[in-house]
Amino acid sequence: MSETGATGAPAKMAERRDELTPMMEQYFELCDEYDDCVVLFQVGDFYETFCEAARDVSRKLDITLTQREDSSGTYPMAGIPVDSAESYVETLLDEGYRVAVADQVQDPDETTGVVRRAVTRVVTPGTVVEDELLDEDNNYVACVVRAEGDDYQGERYGVAFMDVSTGELVATTCGADDLRDEIERFAPSEAVTEDGSFFDDDCMVTPYDTFAPEGPREIVEAYFGNADALLDGDTEIRACGTLLAYAEYTRGEEREDEQREGDRLGYVNRLRRYDPRDHMLLDTVALESLEVFESRRGDDTLFDVLDETSCALGSRKLKSWLRHPLLDADDIEARLDAVGELKNETLVREEVRELLRDVYDIERLVTRVSRGRANARDMLALKQTLDVVPRVEEAMRGVEPPRLRSLRENLDTMDEVRGLIGRAVREDPPIEITEGGVIREGFDDELDELRRVENEGREWVASLEERERDRTGIDSLKVGFNKVHGYYIEVTNPNLDDVPDDYTRRQTLKNSERFYTPELKEREDEILSAEERADKLEYRLFKQVRDEVAEEAERMQALAETLASLDAVAAVAAVAAENGYTRPEFVEGEKDGHSVEGARHPVVERSVDEYVPNDASFENANFAVVTGPNMSGKSTYMRSVALVSVLAQVGSFVPAEKARLEVVDRVFTRVGASDDIAGGRSTFMVEMVELAEILHNATERSLVLLDEVGRGTSTADGLSIARAVTEFIHDEIGAKTMFATHYHELTETADELDGVCNLHFAADRRDGEMVFLHEVVDGAANESYGVEVARMAGVPDEVVERADALVEDGFGNGKKDTEAEDGPKQTRLDGAVGIVDGDGGTESENGERRTNEEDGRNPNVVEDLAEVDTANTTPIEALNILNRLSKKAEKTDRNR
Ligand code: ADP
Repeated sequence: MSETGATGAPAKMAERRDELTPMMEQYFELCDEYDDCVVLFQVGDFYETFCEAARDVSRKLDITLTQREDSSGTYPMAGIPVDSAESYVETLLDEGYRVAVADQVQDPDETTGVVRRAVTRVVTPGTVVEDELLDEDNNYVACVVRAEGDDYQGERYGVAFMDVSTGELVATTCGADDLRDEIERFAPSEAVTEDGSFFDDDCMVTPYDTFAPEGPREIVEAYFGNADALLDGDTEIRACGTLLAYAEYTRGEEREDEQREGDRLGYVNRLRRYDPRDHMLLDTVALESLEVFESRRGDDTLFDVLDETSCALGSRKLKSWLRHPLLDADDIEARLDAVGELKNETLVREEVRELLRDVYDIERLVTRVSRGRANARDMLALKQTLDVVPRVEEAMRGVEPPRLRSLRENLDTMDEVRGLIGRAVREDPPIEITEGGVIREGFDDELDELRRVENEGREWVASLEERERDRTGIDSLKVGFNKVHGYYIEVTNPNLDDVPDDYTRRQTLKNSERFYTPELKEREDEILSAEERADKLEYRLFKQVRDEVAEEAERMQALAETLASLDAVAAVAAVAAENGYTRPEFVEGEKDGHSVEGARHPVVERSVDEYVPNDASFENANFAVVTGPNMSGKSTYMRSVALVSVLAQVGSFVPAEKARLEVVDRVFTRVGASDDIAGGRSTFMVEMVELAEILHNATERSLVLLDEVGRGTSTADGLSIARAVTEFIHDEIGAKTMFATHYHELTETADELDGVCNLHFAADRRDGEMVFLHEVVDGAANESYGVEVARMAGVPDEVVERADALVEDGFGNGKKDTEAEDGPKQTRLDGAVGIVDGDGGTESENGERRTNEEDGRNPNVVEDLAEVDTANTTPIEALNILNRLSKKAEKTDRNR
């Protein structure tokens, strides 16, 4: 939660002497009105801040603190150039400020007295519309409203997310847990709420009280009609109403170059209510551990693999698909159809993708057009995008597959808008729209006439120099122009005698004099007035064109939507084609089984030389205990299975030879030790919290990945928890589950519970090197793989054998003292079965009995070994330990 940057307080102004000047009065009034903002106050070419705000801003922006002195006092002052304001505004936003931009809204030349300033926009992190301040991603502001009178189900919240830069608005109602997940999914940069605790530090929190509108329902209905038909209950209506009011507020006061219909934002036309349960749920933990949008080590993410989109529209669309994978089989099939069609139509696909590269972010362009902030270049970008549409349509002509046909039919070429901009706006317009050069010739007769007069005058002036040289005989005579004095004829001092009578002196320089003639003066007036009138007329015409285009906001948004979907489908199809993905098949009944053949991890497969595909089937058993050494591929395997489901339900093809899938309602992951040190909870606590979440929420249709459970506590506790969890998921939930574990004991449940099976990953030795095969095989891994690794690495046989025997005895897993005579059987590498007895000795099948003492081994080594936590030991550490122990053993041997 960032602090708001309230700074402009006039009370802190120490230097005040007298009555304020009108300008300073205006400044302080605006500061009062926008008291949670830094007010940037336009004074000519600069935005100034004063007093406390100036001190703050100069420090934060690293700009010079100067002073302003007037009849009322001396004020610290810091300013930034109007022309390059955006980058400074960005820094202020990053520093946690809101910025109110107060522009001069009167022409200084036409005003007597002080020029009026008005706040024409309030820039906040969650409501920015300026391209310079945004990246390609959606930028959301959230509003969370707690339902009154929480019932027995616990607290309920109405929540809305709005992307002010595109006009998208969505709302839902959910409990606290889901709310956290939704917030994570949308990652808002600002929240209007009474409870900031849901939001993390880089989200600016704006107090709800300040912006809650008087009549939220009225606002919602002004935009969308009947609120009850669209939204579910008052809290959702309040959340949406608040965001609409907030978005209106940040637009600031109406400028004269803007035509507003009331306070409404013309581009906000879409409100979508959704239920988080309508989508496959990927909670925060799952999104992180599956590395959907963010990776832990800066590697590629799932999104990176899929994002072969050509334009920003498509990239955002794809992101929202990934955020909300589908549940409805028909919806999924529809997307898969489209992807499949475009995967097959290679030429069409590649041509369309190439064309879409020229598509600008028209969603945001429409917003700027509608808010009266688009300049001529924006209008051209809009036209260039519209120009692409008929070409895309052409490229798709003749494709028969039904989904592509309907996408093509939705392409609206918007010929009128395209024609209008084409006729009106010049090819290479300046950024400013007030200084001419914006409107094309032939668009408006009056404008053409003014420009004709202006040009004729200029031509006359251009030829004046030669005429006057002829007339006066002064070869060095020059005709020029400057802003202050206008046109002049310049004659150097030696030639002043030849100056004719009709020259009037205008200006004296060191080596020359400047003159004008009555005719030149007349022409000058004509040119300047024509130019000024033409500039003003162009500005007016431009605004007319812009308003006319704004009328079509909704159609352009629909077009943007179609282009976005087309781009996303084409990207996913291209990824499928390039990476050999196949179309998943969804099975009807729940018991038809969920199986994947030759599954690959879409990200890992790109970074390894040779990826080993693996099968996974939940047909006969829906709970798999996965064992194998560290680094053998367990977690990659489990994630690949989950990612196949995620991709399939996004509507993408999948990295597998064959996938027959049930629709998964939720993917849960409990992976690794994600320490929540900041939250002050121990690893074990975090682990248990995540586990509780899974056990409470998983259903028969969920996919659960567990990667070690219970490691943060004693072995007995941990193992017991792991076992109980397995039984509970198996007996009570029936979710498809994969459980990677070092608890070898867990593999025994496969014998006891019907739906549990064992899978393992093995290692092999080739040319004296340890190699992981990354291949999943049925059955449990050998328990003593750590020792086996040591053997492969060349640790002396004697040590390896002894270690093997000790493992068998139960050293290192705390069983030594607790297991009774009839303790569990343990399988050894060679298949021999030994019974662990009470005093740590081993009884072999032939009944020979040895104790540690009789072995003549050093009990210190044994003690050391007993302390080794094999479950938390990497192969390298294991080697080091063995190395140390073997040295110790050697030493004691020699000493004996
Ligand atoms: P574990 O979870 O068993 O410790 P990981 O799944 O993290 O092992 O895999 C370790 C590394 O092995 C991965 O980073 C990857 O480089 C490689 N790997 C895993 N699975 C495969 C596979 N199927 N084919 C090829 N390489 C793999």
